[in-house]
Amino acid sequence: MKRTRIAHVLAEGQPGETHQVCGWVRTRRDSKQGFSFIELNDGSSMQGLQIVVDADVPGFEEIHKLITTGASLRLVGKLQESPGKGQRVEMVASEIELYGTADADTYPLQKKRHSFEFLREIAHLRPRTNTFGAITRVRNILSAGIHEFFQTRGFQYIQTPVITTSDCEGAGEMFQVTTLNLERIAQIQTEIDFNQDFFGRKASLTVSGQLEAEIFACAIGECYTFGPTFRAENSNTTRHLAEFWMIEPEMPFYDLNDNMELAEEFIQFLMKAVLEKAPDDMQFFNDRIENTVLETVKQIAETPFERVPYTEAIEILTSSGEKFEYPVKWGNDLQSEHERFLTEKHFKKPIILFDYPRTIKPFYMRCNDDGKTVRAMDVLVPRIGEIIGGSQREERLDVLENRMRECDLNPDDYWWYLDLRRFGTVPHSGFGLGFERIVQLVTGMQNIRDCIPFPRTPKNAAF
Ligand code: ATP
Ligand code: MN
Repeated sequence: MKRTRIAHVLAEGQPGETHQVCGWVRTRRDSKQGFSFIELNDGSSMQGLQIVVDADVPGFEEIHKLITTGASLRLVGKLQESPGKGQRVEMVASEIELYGTADADTYPLQKKRHSFEFLREIAHLRPRTNTFGAITRVRNILSAGIHEFFQTRGFQYIQTPVITTSDCEGAGEMFQVTTLNLERIAQIQTEIDFNQDFFGRKASLTVSGQLEAEIFACAIGECYTFGPTFRAENSNTTRHLAEFWMIEPEMPFYDLNDNMELAEEFIQFLMKAVLEKAPDDMQFFNDRIENTVLETVKQIAETPFERVPYTEAIEILTSSGEKFEYPVKWGNDLQSEHERFLTEKHFKKPIILFDYPRTIKPFYMRCNDDGKTVRAMDVLVPRIGEIIGGSQREERLDVLENRMRECDLNPDDYWWYLDLRRFGTVPHSGFGLGFERIVQLVTGMQNIRDCIPFPRTPKNAAF
């Protein structure tokens, strides 16, 4: 007999049907009449299946006491209408098999609530909790939604390298990749000769797939990457990971307005996808994690985003009368507190800031005629702040070369990138969406470390 996932039984199972289900015990309650109620969960849905096991089910008596929270079971039984509240059907078992026990004294996930800090220490077990089951399912819906969004719009999915020899963001916050025996070298010489290294030069883990994505955009048209990126920034915040996933669409013949339109449509599409495909999980987040999350996600899905030039945002911030920890000044990057004030308190909806000072943005953004700003755009949303960073790219060869020198980069190192401007250059644009930040947005989770299966942060790469 084939196994049925519990989500399917709960949604479509009819009284009288026989099913086989497998999963982990959440609770067992014994009745005085000699039968037990088992709530079984297999991760396919928030809700578990209620199963009634009579004392005369073959083998039940022997294993009865071993059926504790966390134990794994296989059951076969007939569905019947449930007299209890909260579920449409329940199962009456005719067959039961115990796969594995979970000792009640040592299994860490007992019925009580655990702190997210504690659960991070048992990241191999936390997927079995309601919260992490829901996060995982929502993450999956978002992944599928991302591909659906781009695939239905004719974008090609491309894979860009994880190991790279260029620093796209120019921030120098990269993890080095080497096969050199650094301990030995440290003993015998003072300088490292990277010619001897695996790639014959200094290599790192990528911070962004953008530069390579541009190569493909300027050949096959609209494309996107969706892969891991790495940043060795030593920022212990609730919004930064050392390893995170990024979605980076790149579009030829798009100017900054086209880019902003796409970003807005993309985020709204993802909000609608989770509302439509994970209503139970979303209700759970709203009830148990953050009681504004449903309202926020619905509002983002429906409200047009406000578009505001950076310079205007600075004026709003300086005349707001609000006390900020970090000073607001034209030319400074906005801090999370500034971003959140603008989106949560001032505009009360998502906003797209554009035309940032060139001194705080990377070399590849298109320079405006004012000589001071570049065609950058950041999408800011309530609770998170920046969720997308993007720009129209600089397509003029001479301007780009000058910008590289201005950013202390050697144009010779980027000869292939410059060739895109040398041969058949076109106006083009793109952006990067942090995948875990969007998971954080829709789940209402406080900390981004709980929005990825196995977080990597300073001093932490367990599991
Ligand atoms: P921030 O100012 O928040 O540190 P950034 O400006 O350095 O972000 P970008 O280089 O613009 O980030 O990257 C594009 C997107 O990737 C960001 O808008 C954000 O959603 C996400 N992102 C950037 N850094 C991280 C990180 N360390 N952890 C998780 N997501 C990140
Ligand atoms: Mn950014």
